[in-house]
Amino acid sequence: MMRRMIKAAAAVTAAAVMLSGCMADAPVDIKKSDEEKISVVCTAFPEYDWVKQITGGRSYEFDITYLLANGADLHNYQPSTKDMAEISSCDLFICTGGESEKWVDDALAAPVNSKMKVIRLLDVAGDRKEAEEEKEGMEPEEEEEEGVVYDEHVWLSLKNADLFCAEITDCLCEMDEAHSDEYRDNYEKYSVELKKLDMDFQDMFDAVEDPAKKTMVFADRFPFLYFVKDYGLDYYAAFKGCSAESEASFKTVAFLAEKLDELGLKSVYVIEGSDGKLAKAVLENSSDKDRDIVMLNSLQSVTKDELKSSSMTYLSLMQSNYRKIKDALEKEAVEE
Ligand SMILES: [Zn+2]
Repeated sequence: MMRRMIKAAAAVTAAAVMLSGCMADAPVDIKKSDEEKISVVCTAFPEYDWVKQITGGRSYEFDITYLLANGADLHNYQPSTKDMAEISSCDLFICTGGESEKWVDDALAAPVNSKMKVIRLLDVAGDRKEAEEEKEGMEPEEEEEEGVVYDEHVWLSLKNADLFCAEITDCLCEMDEAHSDEYRDNYEKYSVELKKLDMDFQDMFDAVEDPAKKTMVFADRFPFLYFVKDYGLDYYAAFKGCSAESEASFKTVAFLAEKLDELGLKSVYVIEGSDGKLAKAVLENSSDKDRDIVMLNSLQSVTKDELKSSSMTYLSLMQSNYRKIKDALEKEAVEE
C-alpha cells in the first residue's frame, strides 16, 4: 500500500514537472529495496495469465496487475490516474500495442522507472500480424480509418501465444536472473501445452471432409481473425474485429442467413457477452430456425470476479473453445 502511494506521488511529481515545463527538477527516481517485488502491468487477460504461468511458483514474488480486471473492454478502456501511476513505475509493461491502446504512448511518455521493459504483442508478432479485413457481407464501418489497422486480437492464435510467452520469458529472466532456469523450465512445459492444443485444432479441422464446413459464420463481432488464418478456415461475420457498430442492418442479417443455408451449416457462432438477439434474427431469416448458437470466448473481457470463482486460464478458455467447435463440427458431419 505504502509503495502504491509512493508510486502515485512520484507520478504526480513527474506530471507536474512536465506540465510546468520546468526542467530544473528531474522526476524523482525511486530506489528499490531488495525486498521489493518486481512489478508487471498487463492490459489484457492473456498477458496476465502468461506472466503467472511463466513465473509459476514464484508468482508471489511479483506484483502482477491486470488492468482490465473490472470488466472494461479492451477497446473502450481508459486508464485511471492510479493506473497511469502504476504503469509509469512498473518494471515490465505488457500491452497489445494496437489501435485501442493509443493511450499507451501517453502512459509511457514520462516513465518514473527508467529501466522499464515494454512488450507490445503486435511488435512481437512481426510478420504474423494481420490487417483487419472488411469481408463480404459485413456491416460497413461508419468512421473510415486511415491506413492499415492491424487486428489486435493477436492472442487468438496459439502460435502467436507461444511467441509472446517466449518473449515474456526472456524479459523475466533478464529482470530476475537468479531464477531464470525456473522461468525457462516453466515456459518449456507451457509451450508444449500450447503446441499440443494447436495441433489438436489443426487435426480437428484437417479431418473435416466437406470444405463448406470449414467456414465459421459469426452473427456477432469477429475477433477470431488470427484463429481462422492459422487453420485456413473461411468465415463470415456481422462486424469486423471489435467494431463499435452494434446494430446490424437487415441486409447483413439476410446475408448471414443465406450463407448458413448455402453452406448447409448447423451452427452459428457468437462471442462471450452476446445477448444472442442478432443470432436469433439470423436464424429466423434462414431456412432452419433450430440451428445451434455456439458461444466462443475471445478472452478479452475476463473479470476479476470470474477469476476468483473459477480457475480460468488462457489455456482452459482456448480448450473450452476447442470442445465447443468440436461438438459443432460433429453435428455438421451427421447426415440428415
Ligand atoms: Zn476486441
